[in-house]
Amino acid sequence: MIVKSLKLILISTPIGFLGSGRGGGVELTLTSIVKGFLDMGHRVTLVAPKGSILPFDCERAELITVGGIDQPSWQHQDSHASMVIPLEGVLPKLLNVALELSKEADAILNLAYDWLPLWITPLVETKIFHLISMGGVSKVMQNEVNNLSNTHHSRLAFHTYSQASDYELKDDPIILGNGFDLKNYQFKLDNKGPLGWAGRVAPEKGLEDAVQVAAALEDTLVVWGFLEDKEYASKIEASVPSGTIEWRGYLDTEVFQNQLGACRAFINTPKWNEAYGNVVMEAMACGVPVVAYDRGGPSEIVKSGITGWLTTPDDIDELTQSISKIDQINRINCRDWAVETASYQAFCKRIFSWISREINI
Ligand code: UDP
Repeated sequence: MIVKSLKLILISTPIGFLGSGRGGGVELTLTSIVKGFLDMGHRVTLVAPKGSILPFDCERAELITVGGIDQPSWQHQDSHASMVIPLEGVLPKLLNVALELSKEADAILNLAYDWLPLWITPLVETKIFHLISMGGVSKVMQNEVNNLSNTHHSRLAFHTYSQASDYELKDDPIILGNGFDLKNYQFKLDNKGPLGWAGRVAPEKGLEDAVQVAAALEDTLVVWGFLEDKEYASKIEASVPSGTIEWRGYLDTEVFQNQLGACRAFINTPKWNEAYGNVVMEAMACGVPVVAYDRGGPSEIVKSGITGWLTTPDDIDELTQSISKIDQINRINCRDWAVETASYQAFCKRIFSWISREINI
């Protein structure tokens, strides 16, 4: 039941335009939020870098695009790196537009993982909420999240407890999980397909370990995702017999969603404290069991022995052995688990109840 139609301004990632894949999982999370809030009858304006597009079913949202230079991604800098805003940077421009629009809105929900929106939050009248999309990859960011938690803890939310544990928060973290449009993921019963891996191809995602598993099994690993670090990808390719990796590249999310269900198992091997791991839940939504390191978000969203196997982080032998146990997992459990815990509708209800506690609607 709608108490009052909310007017929400969303700030997108300042890294890449929506649809480019450079923003990683935040791109799909934003789509889920837009869709969920529209479904509930709220009004949504999304402020995003120039070139951004929204899927067809989000067309009732207002999309305002802003040109400017990308922020450097925190995860690819030294953990002690300083805050940098490039000349003509897109981040302050996104924030400017959002703040201007917020005079006619109830709140801003920020998904840009960066310092400036956090820092400005206590200084403006507009209620800015932050869905933090990464673990603590940088001291500057950790410090700023901790500072905001001290003064405005209720304005911060996280995807998982593991992610939130990277920050020193004043109180228990607000955990929202994530949400997907599950009708876009078709359940596939067939368990004879290839091994799969998906994500930005960058060192923190640990593709090299999944590739070693495929090589040990003399199998092929299908790899989907944005090629962020070409040198890293070439090194991995050179480390295994040719044909071990089948590169599919970064596909439109819709196409990716259609292909994922063909896998007999999905391997997830992050080296960092993954905030959630969209691709893990997307695989399960198609009925694909996941073999993942017991680390970060995936350790909370894979039920070991039921929707896949969680293994000791960085232990490639254990990872390989768990692939041989994949037939013990009933693919229906994976789909059921996604439906139970990760629909975009339930995710948006959780966001609404978090935000509405502070804006008196
Ligand atoms: N993805 C996609 N096309 C592809 C491969 C991946 O659209 O070919 C999307 C996928 O749906 C997911 C995102 O890329 O939403 C990766 O997000 P994840 O949370 O797994 O990792 P991140 O990149 O945020 O670290």
